[in-house]
Amino acid sequence: MSTVFLGSIAHLTANPFENPNALEIIEEGALWVDENGKIIEYGKRSDILPKALEASIEDFKNAWIIPGLIDGHIHFPQYFATAAYGGQLLDWLVQSILPAETALANPTFAHDAAHRFVKHLLSCGTTTALVFGSQFHHANVSLFNAAKEYGLRLIAGATLMDSPGEGIPDSLLQTPQQALADAESLISFCSNEPLLHYAITPRYALSCSDGMMQVCRGLLHDHPETYLQTHINENDGEIQAVMGHFKQHRDYLDVYDHYGLVTERTVLAHSIHTTDRELARIAQAGCAVCHCPSSNLYLGSGLFPLTRHIDKGINIVLGTDIGAGTSFSIWRNLSDAYKIQQLQRLSLDAAHLLYLATLGGAKALRLDHETGNFATGKSADFFVLNPLKDNYLGERLSHCDSLKQQLFCLLHLASERHIEATVVGGRRVYGM
Ligand SMILES: [Zn+2]
Repeated sequence: MSTVFLGSIAHLTANPFENPNALEIIEEGALWVDENGKIIEYGKRSDILPKALEASIEDFKNAWIIPGLIDGHIHFPQYFATAAYGGQLLDWLVQSILPAETALANPTFAHDAAHRFVKHLLSCGTTTALVFGSQFHHANVSLFNAAKEYGLRLIAGATLMDSPGEGIPDSLLQTPQQALADAESLISFCSNEPLLHYAITPRYALSCSDGMMQVCRGLLHDHPETYLQTHINENDGEIQAVMGHFKQHRDYLDVYDHYGLVTERTVLAHSIHTTDRELARIAQAGCAVCHCPSSNLYLGSGLFPLTRHIDKGINIVLGTDIGAGTSFSIWRNLSDAYKIQQLQRLSLDAAHLLYLATLGGAKALRLDHETGNFATGKSADFFVLNPLKDNYLGERLSHCDSLKQQLFCLLHLASERHIEATVVGGRRVYGM
């Protein structure tokens, strides 16, 4: 049986950086979804309801129905390591993060963490996540199983490291042979699961040997449906360390390019201090870039140059970057994204912000045929935001002149506390 979900609808029908009319808001809206979880049609409820006489109705009253949020960068093994002290990137990693990642060596702990992690994301309205997995295969099996069980659209893979270094526990290092076998097994698991995808995940240039990079290249070549994700140009110290080691390369991106890892299936996290040459190459290759606002502020990494990326036509997705980010909610990261651009004299509006978290993110992850807005035929992935769960927010919104103004307020003032339900493929995955 089909279902009609009732509420105020807000989504993007196009890219607002190119089209000023891309944001569509429908008061008293309706989203009509078939029994397979695909969108039949959306519109005013007075138009949809007479056509959907047989459908069951889920009435969210005045709450907002918004496309599921897309998190383009988050570290599963850092689930319990948010808000850890430790200075900037490389010191923080060694002091606080790598010890937390070793805890997943325990299968019972890893299984429990995977379930908590997936449920937490869904409770934040995130319906699609690109995840750096554990170094331990059993933990990644738990992660994929949890995503399948709870209904999260997941792209993930083992975080690959095989280069020893100061402060890096030996238990976090794999061999290239083991990494290859583990990846092949999870890629095969994903091939039968419509919501699950594998991402080849070299942690960053310095963490992988030549042999491990060759494994990544081979996997990407043999399995063109997989993704490649890694870090780039996050922090000055990191860039100096990479360039000090790879002296024969022009720049950071060139190291990945050397191994054939710069492709249209590649998602590069951070890209804060990226050179003009690197940007041109990223654009030419069709890579996506993931901007992690809360993390960049927390680690003091720098101000993401959004305009330079947009001008080159590079697709951008947003990431929470847990554990460097301090919120699991992409929605809450939007306020930080806004402030980071304000500091660079760019004032993003509600359309820009919502786009980055939904349709733009879907495009960056090559999933915009499946998710990101309410176009006919897409999967019904959305969350329900109810501002009336909060007295102040309800009062504040009553002083807005338009729904667009309300949406802008919500982008700064609402959080996961206001989420009433999350739905993936028409199935309620959070909020009963
Ligand atoms: Zn990261």
